[in-house]
Amino acid sequence: MTRWTLPPDRIPDAWFNVVPHLPAPPQPPLHPVTREPVGPDDLAPLFPMALIGQEVSAEPWIDVPGEVLDILRLWRPTPLQRAVRLEEALGTPARIYFKDESVSPAGSHKPNTAVPQAFYNAKEGIARLTTETGAGQWGTALAFACAQFDLDLQVYMVRASYEQKPYRRVAMETWGGAVVASPVGEPGHPGSLGAAISDAVRDCVGRDDTHYALGSVLNHVLLHQTVIGLEAREQLELAGERLPDVVIASCGGGSNLGGIAFPFVPDAGVRLLAVEPASCPTLTKGRFDYDFGDTAGLTPLMPMYTLGHDFVPPSIHAGGLRYHGDSPLVSALVRDGRMAAVAYPQGPVFDAAVQFARLEGRIPAPECAHAIRATIDEALAAKEAGEERVILFNYSGHGFLDLAAYDDHLNGRLPAEPE
Ligand SMILES: *Cc1c(COP(=O)(O)O)cnc(C)c1O
Repeated sequence: MTRWTLPPDRIPDAWFNVVPHLPAPPQPPLHPVTREPVGPDDLAPLFPMALIGQEVSAEPWIDVPGEVLDILRLWRPTPLQRAVRLEEALGTPARIYFKDESVSPAGSHKPNTAVPQAFYNAKEGIARLTTETGAGQWGTALAFACAQFDLDLQVYMVRASYEQKPYRRVAMETWGGAVVASPVGEPGHPGSLGAAISDAVRDCVGRDDTHYALGSVLNHVLLHQTVIGLEAREQLELAGERLPDVVIASCGGGSNLGGIAFPFVPDAGVRLLAVEPASCPTLTKGRFDYDFGDTAGLTPLMPMYTLGHDFVPPSIHAGGLRYHGDSPLVSALVRDGRMAAVAYPQGPVFDAAVQFARLEGRIPAPECAHAIRATIDEALAAKEAGEERVILFNYSGHGFLDLAAYDDHLNGRLPAEPE
């Protein structure tokens, strides 16, 4: 057997909170002006109280509301798949498993948090959400989730993507979202994720009926993603494995990584690996410091690895990995040595994606291709060492909407990158 599914009633009914398992207690976010720790009142204009509570919770488990489970059940539990053909081609004694988050309505892991975020906002009487989106994956996920709870949605989409990826805009509009190019009022500007966050936060604080939603980085977002790792744990057991030797995921803001890796943090023998692009090397070359989440400095200061909130990464195809900062929880695990990080340039990443596509049939999202590159290298290292390692990676999304990136790769048009 090479594919393990779980029945609908095996979706985890509680999220796993990694906070009690951190080597050191987390540092609080700071107010952007006073630099004092932020309290619930500071965050209330942006988020519903339920999410603010989750953001600061130290409870080991947090219940998933039944209304959320009912929607997650449209595609969860997701399958765990073994990449046998890839193993054979590499001649590795390693066993390679991947958790297939591409089966969600939006084609990535992002609906796992979009749904509870929309739910808690609707429950608190909010009528409208604002958000940013880079390449469009988060915007599409949140548009789908808002449609489930009758919420209006305004998306600020990084202008370069808005112009290059009209089909993503259409996906958001089909689910009922409204989309504008960011930065608003600067027509020639290509935009950045940080600037789009500023646009979305400004819109939100100007209106009482509106809250803001973020698709990664924050503690509650990573919490919601832990359904991935919890399911994978159970499915690995069904596959006859005890624990993985290593868990691998791409890292932009850290949500698909946290989702698959956090439930394994208490298992000291399990290695955890974050994979990022060499052109936006937050964890491998950034500094650990308090920094803003956005360009304009409107968000709280977060303790995280950062390249500086004014860092504008070069345009690469893995748009979802172009963020100057990183999740504070992931950052703390890397700083304290519980998680490792590696960076790859685009060329070897796309080579891995194409090899995977030809053997396993699936065309991965360029973000996910980073995890595949690291997985292949881990499997080759296992071969070198003659070890039967168990590798688990997160197949965070499919690449059907990113075929232009493959066109560039296959035809030698990937832009040169700093090493
Ligand atoms: C958004 C995205 C990522 C990166 O975001 P994280 O928060 O780091 O997970 C990775 N893969 C896919 C498919 C995405 O859509």
